[in-house]
Amino acid sequence: MKRNLFSLFIIGALLFQTSCMEDDGSSPGDEDEQLNDNELQNEEQQEESSTTYIDPDFFASSSFAVTAKVVDCTLDNGSTTQCYELTFISNPVPDDGPFCPATTSDVGGLGIYDGNTNAGFQVMKASLFEAMEADGYDIIDVGGNIRMSDFSTKDKPEFSYCLQPVVNDNLKLTFYIPLEPEDLSSPNTIETVELIGVSLDGVPMNGTPPSVVGFGNGNIPSLDACGGHHDPSGYYHWHFISESMNEVLSAYQISELTCTNTEQDKSALSGFAKDGYPIYAYADMDGSEPSDLDQCNGHFSATAEFPDGVYHYHASKTEAPNMPPCLKGASVTNAFVYQ
Ligand SMILES: [Zn+2]
Ligand SMILES: [Zn+2]
Repeated sequence: MKRNLFSLFIIGALLFQTSCMEDDGSSPGDEDEQLNDNELQNEEQQEESSTTYIDPDFFASSSFAVTAKVVDCTLDNGSTTQCYELTFISNPVPDDGPFCPATTSDVGGLGIYDGNTNAGFQVMKASLFEAMEADGYDIIDVGGNIRMSDFSTKDKPEFSYCLQPVVNDNLKLTFYIPLEPEDLSSPNTIETVELIGVSLDGVPMNGTPPSVVGFGNGNIPSLDACGGHHDPSGYYHWHFISESMNEVLSAYQISELTCTNTEQDKSALSGFAKDGYPIYAYADMDGSEPSDLDQCNGHFSATAEFPDGVYHYHASKTEAPNMPPCLKGASVTNAFVYQ
């Protein structure tokens, strides 16, 4: 099977080069042949080293809505390849908050505030909402209650809201992840809320929540103690690698909340990125913290699941969120759909 795919690739590569030569009108010479040989050699090396890491057996069987299958897919580098189609139920993990606190006397979940006063990752309590008031956001009403929106409240620009999740347990979430990772020439920087991957419990892993100032007009998303919450359409997703959540809480000196819904395990396999590489908590399998991480918080080393070594991403212990900031490999443009 692999050999057939490889042959097809070579034919494709040759056809591609032929058409290029026709297009630019350059004459084939020694240099072109040399290039072609190198190209073949590189592809041959890649073929020998390429491996599939993602396997449906890693995922919680109770989270699947449909049996996993292999389908044809096209990656954002133009490559046509094969992907796993993984379809999960919408809310497979405990998802009862805390999210928004009712009043300034209460403590809620977690927020990331990017205004001028007291900005940063913090607990949702009086100090956060008073900072937002100081910045001109009317988020505390005259009774000392926190204004909350379950997203059904339509724009009332005079007020700001704490965004309280809505839950829909009846959605099906489908992910398309390549069997064999293909490295991009430069990494894909993860945008705000962009899908990063899927956790082993079948939950989407996403980039930073929307900016309170920029996108939210003073509306602030609320996250639970493990760093997840519901999308306005009702499915739970992670903005943090939850197995390392308590490390981050402690780095930010947050003592009011503890992540208890996810077992804290510093070298746990957390999920798979949408490029097909695994995502781990902050340590390697011997418990040491890697010192050779690249710009995407990734490196190559042996792991418990891949003793021969694998490129993989790590959670940060000190950043909030603690997700990889970029991905090394190509992914399906619409790697995630739900219905
Ligand atoms: Zn979110
Ligand atoms: Zn590692």
